[in-house]
Amino acid sequence: MADIINLLPDNIANQIAAGEVIQRPASAVKELLENAVDAGATEIQLILRDAGKELVQVIDNGSGMTETDARMCFERHATSKINTIDDLFAIRTMGFRGEALASIAAVSQVELKSRRADSDLGTYIEIDNSVVKKQEPCQAQIGTSIAMKNLFFNVPARRNFLKSNAAEMRHIVDEFIRVAMSFPELQFSLNSNGQELFHLEKGSLKQRIVAILGQHYNAKLVAVKEATDYMDLNGFVGKPETSKKTRGDQFFFVNNRFIKSPYLHHAVMNAFAEMIPADSFPLYVLFIDVDPAHVDINVHPTKQEIKFDDEKLMYAFVQSAIRHALAQFSVTPALNFDL
Ligand code: ADP
Ligand code: MG
Repeated sequence: MADIINLLPDNIANQIAAGEVIQRPASAVKELLENAVDAGATEIQLILRDAGKELVQVIDNGSGMTETDARMCFERHATSKINTIDDLFAIRTMGFRGEALASIAAVSQVELKSRRADSDLGTYIEIDNSVVKKQEPCQAQIGTSIAMKNLFFNVPARRNFLKSNAAEMRHIVDEFIRVAMSFPELQFSLNSNGQELFHLEKGSLKQRIVAILGQHYNAKLVAVKEATDYMDLNGFVGKPETSKKTRGDQFFFVNNRFIKSPYLHHAVMNAFAEMIPADSFPLYVLFIDVDPAHVDINVHPTKQEIKFDDEKLMYAFVQSAIRHALAQFSVTPALNFDL
């Protein structure tokens, strides 16, 4: 009987792997924005055409890349952020898998321009379907510009799966806001089809929250600040009267990474109990800082789910910190007992 197993060519293996990381334009937005942050940029521009289906471009003023790195970064498992498995448990960067750019390059046409401060000329690269078509020296600003064009042009089944522009834009704006919210000290802008939808100046977290979520929260934010040996909690919750029937103004970040945690959401809701109507949601923008050794961020490629080594401790800490902050608004003094 004939042997039937063959190894998939790289470009097909890359396309399959890319499905995990890049599901829609918003996934590329997240990865490219995070790369800009990791590169130490202070000003980051996001430019879109056709809800990212035609173009997702991120321009940053970060470190830039050498000629060789600018090619290498599109290889799978190519990263400057970790070297050993131990590094995984001391991660301070947003990325570490070395998969995002390889995935993007496998399912789109990419143009990259990059220059480091120590070089007079930059480098320009065009990639199509994971293949480098062209690389040449070019004039460039310090930093990096990556343009992802025609997402899924080579995977029609996936292209057809994309939703309406309005729906894809909602996903993109969600990702943009999550990154912009966690780095108020950086400037971000979002331009879609020639129209500037966001222009966020560097500022405090409070200014960023108001700039993104609305002026009506001005003077309605209560600071949350609590520290233990194990972790820090910082951020703001909305005064009880600002709670809404709809969700969308709730943000949890762990070591600056946006996470979805029904469990910690519950802790916040519990702290607000009796102060807001049962079917409404308070604003919260909360940052937990914890030694990376205590969290596993490696559970999912998009890294929105993470695992704490002591979930119960985390729950109790969050709940008590919020109650503490809200004590002045408390209608039932008994709620403050455990403080
Ligand atoms: P990861 O972020 O997990 O390392 P990526 O595929 O997103 O993987 O990026 C690969 C590498 O390319 C990064 O580790 C970094 O060295 C480099 N890189 C990517 N984007 C930028 C950027 N905007 N500026 C400078 N270097 C970048
Ligand atoms: Mg990355």
